[in-house]
Amino acid sequence: MAQVELQGVNKAFGKTEVIRNVGLEIEKGEFVVFVGPSGCGKSTLLRLIAGLETLTSGDICIADKTVTDLPPSKRGIAMVFQSYALYPHMTVYNNMAFSLDLQGVPKKEIRERVEAAAKILQMETLLDRRPAALSGGQRQRVAIGRAIVRNPDVFLFDEPLSNLDAALRHDTRVEIARLHAQLGATTIYVTHDQVEAMTLADKIVVLKAGEVMQVGAPMELFNKPANEFVAGFLGSPT
Ligand code: ADP
Ligand code: MG
Repeated sequence: MAQVELQGVNKAFGKTEVIRNVGLEIEKGEFVVFVGPSGCGKSTLLRLIAGLETLTSGDICIADKTVTDLPPSKRGIAMVFQSYALYPHMTVYNNMAFSLDLQGVPKKEIRERVEAAAKILQMETLLDRRPAALSGGQRQRVAIGRAIVRNPDVFLFDEPLSNLDAALRHDTRVEIARLHAQLGATTIYVTHDQVEAMTLADKIVVLKAGEVMQVGAPMELFNKPANEFVAGFLGSPT
C-alpha cells in the first residue's frame, strides 16, 4: 500500500472551494513535489495532510492508517515551514530537543537523536549557539533538524527555500536532496518554482486552482505535458 494516500479530498473555506477532488498515492521513500502558481492550493493540500486543516470531504491515509480525524501529533509527519520560526531564547540543541521533551522522550534518547541529526546536517559544532548567532542557511538547517529528530514516516516541506537568497537557495536545495538520498524518507515538498520541482522530484504533482492537472516523473511531464497549462508552467517546448 502507498505510504500516503489521498482519496477524493475536498476543502472549502466558506463557499470557496480550494481543493477539488484530489486523489493521490505516494510510495514509501518517494520525493514528491506539489507545484503550481501562487494561490493554487499547494499549502492547503500540505496542511490537510499534516492535519493543520480539516477536510470538507475525503480521506487521508498515512502508513496504512486512516488519519483523517487524527491531530498532527498522531500522524507520523514532521513539517518544515517557509518561515522557520526558531525559539530565539533557546540553543540549537534545545530547539531540536523541545518537541521530543514535550512528548516525554527520555533525555538520553533525546541526546542521541539530536546528535545524530546534527551529524547528518553537519551542525555538531553549532549546538550551543542561539539562533541570532546563526546564518540564514544554518537556521533553516536547524528547522530541518527539528523535523529529523522526530523520525517521521513523512517529511512535509512548504517552500523551505523561499526566504533565502539565491546562493543559499541553491546550497539548501542540494542539502535537502542529499538528506533525502541519505535518509530515504518519504517527502512531500511544496514549491512554486519549476526548477526546484524538476531537480528535486521523483514525482511531480501539478496543481491549478485546487485540481490536479498531471502527476508524473519530471521528464515525463516535460516531454508529454497533459495540457497547455502544464506545458506552459514547466516550460515544455510546444
Ligand atoms: P498556495 O500555497 O498554492 O499559494 P494556498 O493553499 O495558500 O495556495 O491558498 C489556496 C487558496 O485558498 C487561496 O485562494 C487562498 O486565498 C485560500 N485560503 C488559504 N487559506 C485560507 C483560509 N484560512 N481562509 C480562507 N481562504 C484561504
Ligand atoms: Mg503556499
